[in-house]
Amino acid sequence: MALAVPLETWCQQHPLIADLVRHAQVAWFNPGVVPSAQALADVPLGAADIAQASARLERFAPFIASAFTQTVASAGLIESPLRPLPTLQAALCDELDIAPSGRLWLKADNQLPISGSIKARGGIYEVLKHAEDLALAHGLLKPGDDYARLDSDAARAFFGQYSIAVGSTGNLGLSIGMMGARLGFRTTVHMSADARQWKKDRLRACGVEVREYEADYGVAVAQGRREADADPNCHFVDDENSTDLFLGYAVAAERLRGQLQDAGIQVDIDHPLFVYLPCGVGGGPGGVAFGLKQAFGDAVHCLFAEPTHSPCMLLGVYTGLHEQVSVYDFGLDNHTAADGLAVGRPSGFVGRSMQRLVDGYYTVSDAELFRLLALMDRLEDEQLEPSAAAGVPGMGQVLLENQGYRQRMGLDARRMANATHLVWATGGSMVPQQEMDAYLEKGRAILHGRQGH
Ligand SMILES: *Cc1c(COP(=O)(O)O)cnc(C)c1O
Repeated sequence: MALAVPLETWCQQHPLIADLVRHAQVAWFNPGVVPSAQALADVPLGAADIAQASARLERFAPFIASAFTQTVASAGLIESPLRPLPTLQAALCDELDIAPSGRLWLKADNQLPISGSIKARGGIYEVLKHAEDLALAHGLLKPGDDYARLDSDAARAFFGQYSIAVGSTGNLGLSIGMMGARLGFRTTVHMSADARQWKKDRLRACGVEVREYEADYGVAVAQGRREADADPNCHFVDDENSTDLFLGYAVAAERLRGQLQDAGIQVDIDHPLFVYLPCGVGGGPGGVAFGLKQAFGDAVHCLFAEPTHSPCMLLGVYTGLHEQVSVYDFGLDNHTAADGLAVGRPSGFVGRSMQRLVDGYYTVSDAELFRLLALMDRLEDEQLEPSAAAGVPGMGQVLLENQGYRQRMGLDARRMANATHLVWATGGSMVPQQEMDAYLEKGRAILHGRQGH
């Protein structure tokens, strides 16, 4: 799609676009944010929907614990640890020549069981919900049953009459495919050119059909949707518009609330929580941010992070055009090593729902992602894939901002001293060792180069 007005006109009216077009790392603090009591009305979902999603995941916990032994310790709940990052915090503040204020923490979704990324929240939830709908409608389950019975040949034969399809840059396909196949669904994953080979191999080994495209995520999704539409027994997981995916992500917030309490971390207006979320199409960070706003109101501040070559959500919200624009319209190529974030066109559903709730957006270059994943490994022994490192620069963006954002939000020095900064690390633990070593080697070379001057 061509822009209705020339790029020069856009740049005059939206000064940030010139910087985006030349791949600069930018930060934009959203002047459209309003109190959550008002802005939550933009989202066509509420606290009761999140509570239902959470209850559904609890119903499925016995099945999950039975089918995936790595979740036995958490009684079938798919959850990740919360941990402090004191050494990384000191190093980042040192680099930026700023005094540390508040505390830096990690939400380690890179360690989520089953599929090793944030997609184990939304993606798996949507498959489970579909399975429950079918099983209840056809008498395979009755309300109150122990869902562990779904881990049986009879259940797999039942679900084998149905199929699930999804388009993905990799991690969503991995989550949908692993859970879909385990339940017995015929599962097809349409993978964009960005998808890593190991993800395709892993899915095929689970009996998932993987279709490969030379094109980007948008094309893989469109093709998946077309094929699924032709089959009435096929459920298409719509990454751009699915409220089920969104709710699966949103459940993270109440779980985080418990973890923060256990860690003795206070969150209220005088003790703000900043959360830095890597963003692709928007469902993952959007759903988590929605849950956080429901849980913490105006005490939580969410920022979305995107690669400099794929800032689709920033462009969509900043221009107000949402899914009507793609990064290609602005001459960007959507080529990034952050495969989970290689999305050219944002979700209009998420962009519109969250446009008055998300405090800001920033971009990170691929070189910086590699450097930061190496730093995280060296200082905190946490292994991230490139996409997942995008949350690391968020604290610096907030502490250094000069757009009047902190003042507008009443974030004075006293409150900032009480702040918790949370890097949401969205993936990494399933990356094969050889591939992780290559990421780290690349990042260490950049780190080393920096130290030289
Ligand atoms: C998918 C993904 C994201 C972002 O989620 P979206 O729903 O696409 O915005 C972030 N990090 C990783 C590792 C991912 O796989």
